[in-house]
Amino acid sequence: METLELPGKVHNEQRQGEAFAPFKIEPDVYKKKFYIESYGCAMNFSDSEIVASILSNEGFGATKHFEEADLVLVNTCSIREKAEQTVRKRLTEFKKAKQAKPGMLVGILGCMAERLKGKLLEEEKLVDIVVGPDAYRTLPDLIEDAGTGQKGVNVLLSRDETYADISPVRLDSNGVTSFVSIMRGCNNMCSFCVVPFTRGRERSRDAFSIVKECEDLFNNGYREVTLLGQNVDSYYYIPTTLPNEGLPKIPPSGGGGVTFANLLETVAKISPLLRVRFSTSHPKDITNEVLYTMSKYENICKYIHLPVQSGSSRILQLMNRTYTREWYMAKVKTIKEIMPDCSISSDVIAGFCTETEEDHEETLSILEYSKYAMSYMYFYSERPGTLAARRFKDDVPLDVKKRRLDEIVKLQNRLSQQSNQRDIGKTFKVLIEGNSKKSEADWAGRSSQNKVVVFPKSFYQLNKGDYAMVKVILATGATLIGEIV
Ligand code: SAM
Ligand code: SF4
Repeated sequence: METLELPGKVHNEQRQGEAFAPFKIEPDVYKKKFYIESYGCAMNFSDSEIVASILSNEGFGATKHFEEADLVLVNTCSIREKAEQTVRKRLTEFKKAKQAKPGMLVGILGCMAERLKGKLLEEEKLVDIVVGPDAYRTLPDLIEDAGTGQKGVNVLLSRDETYADISPVRLDSNGVTSFVSIMRGCNNMCSFCVVPFTRGRERSRDAFSIVKECEDLFNNGYREVTLLGQNVDSYYYIPTTLPNEGLPKIPPSGGGGVTFANLLETVAKISPLLRVRFSTSHPKDITNEVLYTMSKYENICKYIHLPVQSGSSRILQLMNRTYTREWYMAKVKTIKEIMPDCSISSDVIAGFCTETEEDHEETLSILEYSKYAMSYMYFYSERPGTLAARRFKDDVPLDVKKRRLDEIVKLQNRLSQQSNQRDIGKTFKVLIEGNSKKSEADWAGRSSQNKVVVFPKSFYQLNKGDYAMVKVILATGATLIGEIV
């Protein structure tokens, strides 16, 4: 039975570790089987689709069963210590499979590979290949070497790799929604964050290849694309050649380059039937131009993930977020003025270095002010090598971090519930993504505001990928229940 994935957001707890098997093993085409498991943010899930594409050109077909795979890959996350522990635990299970199937190769990809490099080969004896996020093109060579017993590491970071020319193999797709990576890396250096070290410098992907990928997705029946990057609002692409005939026309900004607003508008113009989302926006970079572009096009979803991290200006400064509490609140106000129906979500960290009860209270009050529909909430986890690890003491005791996090979660639950209650009686345009998890008699999809809406199929002849106008009659937990009007 098809089920709906939760919001196509940067970090999706429900998809952690998901194994993909997008295409059947056809003996004539695929000589070997690979298994891939992905952790962390949507960028990683998107990268796994690039890896699948590279491997399929090498005669590897995907399997959902790691026991039968010739190559087992884990695309890892380093953002918090727990994410790394989960992967280490998972490796012990692959160890048994490898003992039962001599010749099986195990590879670690992604941020943990980049952070730990060759150390992973020493610490995890079963690992044969370690590949960082910018080195996936070298996978075929590394696999070949590993086949002869030569363990391989490639963790070189690049200033220009964007995999722009690689057409991703859509893994375990619902055929309706898809991620499209528009940039890689991050230049922001938030003091708590390991991403600038594991994913390198920020670079924007060729705008024409992005628009082409979105057009191809639309022509293949997809009805929603989420443009992905760690900081999408700083997207800026300077075309190196004039667009050829047949390539999409993208209006350049005054400076001659393509801004995020230009890109967003061009993707929105592909078809009014194609929904456009994006993630993640850094509050310091999202421009009014982007907000006005969103309001101009009905098919650009009225939803912004705008991580606040903390509500205290003092903590925000230590975090190197480059905005204050007041600045963030003004941004929320502007969004609501330009798009009153826009929903906002956030990421919040509890217990960052030196955080006092007063700082914590300010975080709670900024949640109240922003009325987030949803948040991803964490307690601070010190990551080796980051600015915070080098400069500040991780001095908030674990029990205090957990208590503060608990208070944040409880408040967010109340805010989410209130946000859902406000939707009762309203009608939303819902893009159908598949059957509801609970019943094949119901459709599930999402509103422009990124809320999951479930409604009876009734006698209407609708399909996955169609839009329906649905009036909300009830809100349960994170889901809105409605009926077609
Ligand atoms: N680039 C995005 C941004 O700036 O919002 C998100 C990047 S990160 C993959 C996702 C979230 O993980 C962050 O927004 C932050 O809340 C959280 N995070 C990052 N480092 C963390 C740490 N050391 N401890 C706890 N949470 C952390
Ligand atoms: Fe990490 Fe900050 Fe970059 Fe987001 S913007 S990836 S939190 S450094």
